[in-house]
Amino acid sequence: MMDEREQVVVIGTGFGGLAAAVRLRAMGYSVLMVEARDQPGGRAGVFRRDGYIFDAGPTVITAPYLFEELFELVGRKLDDYAEFVPIDPYYRITFSDGMAFDYVGDEKRLIDEVRRFNPEDVDGYRRLAAHAEQIFELGYEELADEPFESLVDMLRLVPSMIRLQNYRSVYGLVSRYISDERLRRVFSFQPLLVGGNPCTVTSIYLLIHWVERKWGVHFSLGGTTRLVRALTELLDELGVQIRYGTTVDEIVVKNESVQAVRTAQGEEIPCQFVVCNGDPTYTYRHLVGTEKCSVNSDRRLSRIQQSMGLFVGYFATDRSYDSIAHHTIVMGERYRGLLSDIFEKKVLADDFSLYLHRPTATDRSMAPEGHDVFYVLSPVPNNESDIDWTRRGGEYFQQILRHLEERHLPGLSDHLTTRFWTSPDYFENSLRSTSGAGFGPEPKLRQSAWFRYHNRSRDVDGLYFVGAGVHPGAGLPGVVTSAKVLEKLVPIPRENERIDIPPVTARVSV
Ligand SMILES: Cc1cc2nc3c(=O)[nH]c(=O)nc-3n(C[C@H](O)[C@H](O)[C@H](O)COP(=O)(O)OP(=O)(O)OC[C@H]3O[C@@H](n4cnc5c(N)ncnc54)[C@H](O)[C@@H]3O)c2cc1C
Repeated sequence: MMDEREQVVVIGTGFGGLAAAVRLRAMGYSVLMVEARDQPGGRAGVFRRDGYIFDAGPTVITAPYLFEELFELVGRKLDDYAEFVPIDPYYRITFSDGMAFDYVGDEKRLIDEVRRFNPEDVDGYRRLAAHAEQIFELGYEELADEPFESLVDMLRLVPSMIRLQNYRSVYGLVSRYISDERLRRVFSFQPLLVGGNPCTVTSIYLLIHWVERKWGVHFSLGGTTRLVRALTELLDELGVQIRYGTTVDEIVVKNESVQAVRTAQGEEIPCQFVVCNGDPTYTYRHLVGTEKCSVNSDRRLSRIQQSMGLFVGYFATDRSYDSIAHHTIVMGERYRGLLSDIFEKKVLADDFSLYLHRPTATDRSMAPEGHDVFYVLSPVPNNESDIDWTRRGGEYFQQILRHLEERHLPGLSDHLTTRFWTSPDYFENSLRSTSGAGFGPEPKLRQSAWFRYHNRSRDVDGLYFVGAGVHPGAGLPGVVTSAKVLEKLVPIPRENERIDIPPVTARVSV
């Protein structure tokens, strides 16, 4: 029988943790996963209410090949477990002047949209897209899955980053090519999807535009929760046990080296090493203890700027709103001022810009016949603000619903069937996210790559991280790629310790 000390423990079943478990298992490790909650997925959890399926978090799947790779690694095919469908338009971006921009992948159609808004920006868009492609080649193809273990790795990039103008913000760079304010917003809002302020975050994140152009925007039929299930089914076949309702309270360290994890129930689980998918700030503070850390000291941790918070209102209707696209961005009047309220001033503004998700536009199985299911997301200050969400959340949601009813969903209040909301408090209390941040540390230049939390701890031997808090960062492509970085850092198991992957058994395709 295997010595328990030889097993690897993965804390957390977010997408980063799930991808890490598949990769470690493919390397031949015996893997045990522990999850504090009663369901997998972390931010990609699910609420099932009144016959509706509400994906709690991620809805946009870019770079689907990253998921396909995980299945291929262990001799399986993703198609046998889940199904992706392309979404068109990727997003419909609506403005307060009544105009709507269909953000699509097809170049000709996209340029026609740019022309419809402002013919003078067509040439600028072409040059912007070429610039985005060059940033993608450096930032995504060369660097995303590279461990940044030394400052030298970072310094050697400086000449390329200067050439690509990565010292500018995304909004700043877009503005050099595009003059129409609405189009500037269309091509600069994407960093919000990974927790960054488009007006301050490095223009490296313009690569998101090229990722979307290259691989498209997809939806997992049955919801993102179906993709989470696909991965847990795969892990089950690979013999990876997931223990739900098991919170790790302590990572047991002796002589600066990981020995075990201790659960809230007091059980000590010995292990060879630990891969933590939880928030690194929380982990160093509460699971390791900063007094044991020379790099991740209290002082360093308190200087880290966390990303914004998220208010998410979930609702369903007993009619369907067929004119509403799958993904709609409702741009408010203000952009830079609103972003500053959220990220810098940390005040709850009276106005908002929203992301409206209507999965039933693509997949009717998410709601009973003739009904629609939605969520509406409003970026808000994280919990470093003094907003009392228990007191203000209900009214804030009401304000958003009124806005949607006036602009997009006529008669909404007469057709609502189910509604509930979450705020940064949910992220702080239920997901153990520092300051209730939606995406871990904000992806500023000085909190990216080498400057971000390292995938291999510099304080404790045998402690590794995957997920939004570490390189390359938040968003599904980022956290799934962090497991690729992990694979390059952990030791290769000795031949006699390797546990083979079970062969494929016949499956009924989904
Ligand atoms: C509302 C919302 C919408 C989003 N939309 C998109 C989108 O459309 N597309 C996209 O690409 N990205 C999107 N994102 C971002 C993306 O969802 C996240 O970056 C990603 O899912 C985070 O994954 P993770 O691996 O960091 O783990 P998390 O999802 O943060 O999960 C971590 C897990 O670890 C567990 N855990 C933590 N500490 C412990 C402990 N001590 N003991 C046991 N378990 C523990 C937690 O319970 C949790 O299950 C969205 C995020 C949110 C919140």
